[in-house]
Amino acid sequence: MTGFWKKEAEARKKEEPKRKNQKGRIKERMEESMSDVLNVSEIFGKNVFNDAVMKDRLPKNVYKKLKKTIEDGAELDPSIADVVAHAMKDWAIERGATHYTHWFQPLTGVTAEKHDSFISAPNDGKVIMEFSGKELIKGEPDASSFPSGGLRATFEARGYTVWDCSSPAFLREDAIGVTLCIPTSFCSYKGESLDKKTPLLRSMQAVNEQALRILRLFGNTTAKRVAPSVGAEQEYFLVDREKYLQRKDLIYTGRTLFGAMPPKGQELEDHYFGAIRERIGSYMNDVNKELWKLGVPAKTQHNEVAPAQHELAPIYEGVNQAVDHNQIVMETLKKVAGRHGMACLLHEKPFAGVNGSGKHNNWSLTADDGTNLLNPGDTPHENIQFLLVLACIIKAVDVHADLLRESAADVGNAHRLGANEAPPAIISIFLGEQLEDVIDQLCSTGEATHSKKGGTLKTGVDILPDLDKDATDRNRTSPFAFTGNKFEFRMVGSSDSIASPNAVLNTIVAEAFKEAADKLEKAGDFDMAVHDLIKETLSAHRRIIFNGNGYADEWVVEAEQRGLPNIRSMVDAIPALTTDKAVKLFEEFCVFTRAELESRAEVEYENYSKAINIEARTMYDMASKSIIPAVIKYTTGLAASITAVKSACPDADVSTQTELLLETSDLLSETKTALSRLAEMTEKAAAAEGGKTQALVYHQDVVPAMAALRAPVDQLEMIVDKELWPMPSYGDLIFEV
Ligand code: ADP
Ligand code: MG
Repeated sequence: MTGFWKKEAEARKKEEPKRKNQKGRIKERMEESMSDVLNVSEIFGKNVFNDAVMKDRLPKNVYKKLKKTIEDGAELDPSIADVVAHAMKDWAIERGATHYTHWFQPLTGVTAEKHDSFISAPNDGKVIMEFSGKELIKGEPDASSFPSGGLRATFEARGYTVWDCSSPAFLREDAIGVTLCIPTSFCSYKGESLDKKTPLLRSMQAVNEQALRILRLFGNTTAKRVAPSVGAEQEYFLVDREKYLQRKDLIYTGRTLFGAMPPKGQELEDHYFGAIRERIGSYMNDVNKELWKLGVPAKTQHNEVAPAQHELAPIYEGVNQAVDHNQIVMETLKKVAGRHGMACLLHEKPFAGVNGSGKHNNWSLTADDGTNLLNPGDTPHENIQFLLVLACIIKAVDVHADLLRESAADVGNAHRLGANEAPPAIISIFLGEQLEDVIDQLCSTGEATHSKKGGTLKTGVDILPDLDKDATDRNRTSPFAFTGNKFEFRMVGSSDSIASPNAVLNTIVAEAFKEAADKLEKAGDFDMAVHDLIKETLSAHRRIIFNGNGYADEWVVEAEQRGLPNIRSMVDAIPALTTDKAVKLFEEFCVFTRAELESRAEVEYENYSKAINIEARTMYDMASKSIIPAVIKYTTGLAASITAVKSACPDADVSTQTELLLETSDLLSETKTALSRLAEMTEKAAAAEGGKTQALVYHQDVVPAMAALRAPVDQLEMIVDKELWPMPSYGDLIFEV
């Protein structure tokens, strides 16, 4: 045995005792999980400084003031900070915390933290544990190490993290110990947002204000607040950690940059919703436990379409909480995978030719009196408020399709969107038969008189009960689908934060609400005016509604005829952030200033260039240091075999070896040429002026050069002796977890 397999066999031997242990661990876990089933309600939220804890530990007046800020959005009274900090510290220390950290979401897409212990300066060699209101409210991480897209001049380093009391502090337990994490916003010295949370919070204010105007128009005088609710379904892959560590591409870029398809893919569709295997089940069990302790309402888990792919969905929550929780979900999925000898891949496309991962962002608007503004009821044609809300959302999505598309752009998602497994890069809305029919009635006759009913589901089996059917089927190919009482934005990438898509959604809908309220508040005859407005709006923006197959080629053609944008790449999507239309929108609702938008565009171009640069360099490294040497070894063996066979038996037929040698040598030289070209293109890109110009060079020159290198290498993998191939194959990775 040589190469990888020899190493693997040795590793296995070493692992044997651990493996035996693992069996024991699985048993332990099963026992543990049995007991968990009994006390989920006991562990749920155990590590969260939540409402119940605050009520219990804060003086009544302080609790009331804090609650007013959290629930009604009233300005925070800084005088209560000391008391809250004190209570928080005591609670955390009782649970073993030694440190606290402001936990924030810079534009890197992952969360950031800087830990401080609670200890005071020693006095007589003794310390006490301290935490002041000032430390709770404000932190000062060095902002110069985070992407700012030019918002800061290089000499300005100050940045502030600011306590977001509407997202509860929590305790993280891991190898570091117990850390009190305080969700915060992150902004520059001048108050410009450097993070994902601040614009989200601003957008919540905007949609709240405008949605309340709509509710008031319909006579609702009691609702005090309207907030977006979000449930984010998270897809991910699990691979064996030993194998993961043998793949430099996975380590450095989160995806495979080479890899031939295994003989079996996902064609049998036997993984989707398949029985969950023991190793995975034990992992999911641990993930749930961790999440529940942190107050994340993890609810659904199942195997996804691709082998080794899974999904986790929580119960929906207020959007701010949902965004923070999704970050916690991603961190937890990764952390727990390590403990189970696996690696969790959150990348949108870890394996070419195998389904990628997304994140379905389910979004609705809920008033504090419990009304879901997106609930059509049984007879939507009579539900005028719903029809107005729907018309506004349709308008918002049509007018700002480019912004929504942009909000789902990240480097990994470029491999997914439009690749027949995820929604196309064209934004359209699926409404379903019932609503489509109501809209038809409205637009053609000016009057909607009835709503289609779902009817009854009959299975033809007597012992199975008849069920009421939904009025509408689902559509899995639409990027923005109405699913009963919410919209599901299905474009978002699996590794991306959901903050930006929701900030965009909230703001564009706020704008449409505002335009409607401006008109309707002035109307003499409200009923007439609202009827006309709904009809007008729907007629003007109907082109965005599409109930057909979003994966079909015909749709691309039709969408173009309808004038809908089809923005295929991330680099082409970014300019949407800084159009006059976008600047006007975001400035009007105080979500972003022009400077903030420009800086975000800059950061995204930079992120793109950096990511592609790392991928290109990793490919270069792998090809030159492991793949080409392995292929040379293989060809040397073939050549030696030809000579040996010929000399032993001059009449022997060595045509097979010769053919293989020729084919391999051709591919090898193709590889070498592609490698040189990649090096040249990467150099050219690295030397390009930054920002958009540089991102374009990476997109137009480096990416194709990477594809050109991959092609012969993947062919070589199919030919070269498996024992010589320097890394685990796709089959090893996705079928042997
Ligand atoms: P599916 O895969 O069929 O879309 P899931 O149950 O996996 O359904 O996920 C649906 C997600 O939508 C869950 O996170 C759920 O909590 C969330 N959801 C349900 N109702 C609403 C709502 N009114 N607003 C926002 N999210 C919702
Ligand atoms: Mg879904």
